[in-house]
Amino acid sequence: MSNGIVYLVGAGPGDPSLITLRGVACLGKAEVIVYDYLANEQLLNHAPEAAERIYAGKIGGRHNQGQDEINSLLVAKATAGKIVVRLKGGDPFVFGRGGEECEALREAGIPFEVVPGVTAAVGASVYAGIPLTHRDITASVAFVTGQEGKDKYESSIDWDRLSLGGGTIVFYMGVTTLRRNMQRLIEHGRSPDTPVALVRWATTPCQQILVGTLADIADRAEASDFKPPAVTIVGEVVALREKLQWFERRQLCGKKIVVTRAAEQAGEFSAKLSARGATVLECPTIQLVEPESWQLLDLAIRELPNYDWVVLTSANAVRFFFQRLDTLGFDARVFAGCRICAVGPKTADEIRLFGIKPDLVPTDYKAEGVVDEFSRLDIQGSRVLFPRADKARDIIPLELKRMGAHVDSPVAYRNIFPDRLPPETLFALEKRSVDCITFTSSSTVQNLATMLGEELMLDMLKGVVVASIGPITSKSCRELGLKVDIEPESYTLDALAEALETHFT
Ligand code: SAH
Repeated sequence: MSNGIVYLVGAGPGDPSLITLRGVACLGKAEVIVYDYLANEQLLNHAPEAAERIYAGKIGGRHNQGQDEINSLLVAKATAGKIVVRLKGGDPFVFGRGGEECEALREAGIPFEVVPGVTAAVGASVYAGIPLTHRDITASVAFVTGQEGKDKYESSIDWDRLSLGGGTIVFYMGVTTLRRNMQRLIEHGRSPDTPVALVRWATTPCQQILVGTLADIADRAEASDFKPPAVTIVGEVVALREKLQWFERRQLCGKKIVVTRAAEQAGEFSAKLSARGATVLECPTIQLVEPESWQLLDLAIRELPNYDWVVLTSANAVRFFFQRLDTLGFDARVFAGCRICAVGPKTADEIRLFGIKPDLVPTDYKAEGVVDEFSRLDIQGSRVLFPRADKARDIIPLELKRMGAHVDSPVAYRNIFPDRLPPETLFALEKRSVDCITFTSSSTVQNLATMLGEELMLDMLKGVVVASIGPITSKSCRELGLKVDIEPESYTLDALAEALETHFT
């Protein structure tokens, strides 16, 4: 008996956060993913790393030939017992040929399930501020292919009813055929003054909108070289956009911001900027890697039952330490005999993920605070394990030794420079299309200068707004010849995001 199954999943219109929870769950268990051009590739991050990723565009695009091959591929993978996710832009059953794929699966006796998605018409209407229906304007809406006459959609549109019905019309796949379709609506009786909006790459930072009327939208589109993919919304509701548009009003809309940061740091700050409409380009300037040798750490791990304390000073230390523990075949039980000190609430949270409650979480989590906390305990003669980063400050082990403890501090991970910038970020800097760069610590500026070379960095950042989190980071910027344009009053990521907003509004 094979366990093979196919989930047809709607990826939503573009913004990767517009997929459904059920869609994410399917991706989470996928063994094979067959995805489309219009499905945002970022969604693949929800799938296990080991899942096979197949880009359906390569198997023939939109031609019938290609569709047959896709159907056969889905059948073959599921027959081989795989959990297959067929990820399709928008909704699988709206101009998505999901129906045909399901037919092929049913014929082959393969079980399938379908997960709806936000279709392009709905994504575009909402993000353009154009309600498709409105109590005072129209009570109906039609989704129509702009490619009538091609494929199997041969003359199935009743143009008379469509034109005179008064409802909103949304054309899919209608950019190249725009002139012909607008003309047909006029010929069949719709007023040439009817407002029309083209919405391209709806719901993404590249969203582009062109507004006109049935009579002139084709000329306007031609003049501005308007390209697919886009939907065309026709109807009086388009006029509401002037009052209701909201997406473009977000303060950082259209701004391209490079965010320098330590590689393993959570993308929290990037998320704050994206939420305000910015296009964020990540630029890790520190990378965390394994120690050059595991020898000392392994020795300590095997000796864990003989330690009295383990001191962990960062979430990264916890992660590397537990990963190694796992590799050596141990689990949390080896800590039974020792107490654990977690420095900082994030470190404590990370330890709890492994089912362990820290015994000591110093309220002041600078090194000095930790030392102070230990000085109130009697640690004379205790054995303390302090797994650390290679470039960590030595205050804690030194001070604990001074109090009479035996301290071992093996390296659990190293900080290194990434050898290059992510290609997207480098490309944008080279093209001079970046509006702003943010630095959240001195090391982010210094490492970037090392990675690019000082001269090239200064050249690439000419005309780019420099935002620094606080005075120490700003000083490092100035030492390298950068002029700081933005520095918030309090030194937090929230304050920095707000300062950016104020600057660009
Ligand atoms: N199943 C998809 C539609 C696929 S047909 C859905 O439900 O949305 C492809 C057409 O969808 C494109 O030609 C374009 O008209 C429209 N489309 C898809 N994504 C879009 C986007 N982000 N912005 C504007 N139009 C989009």
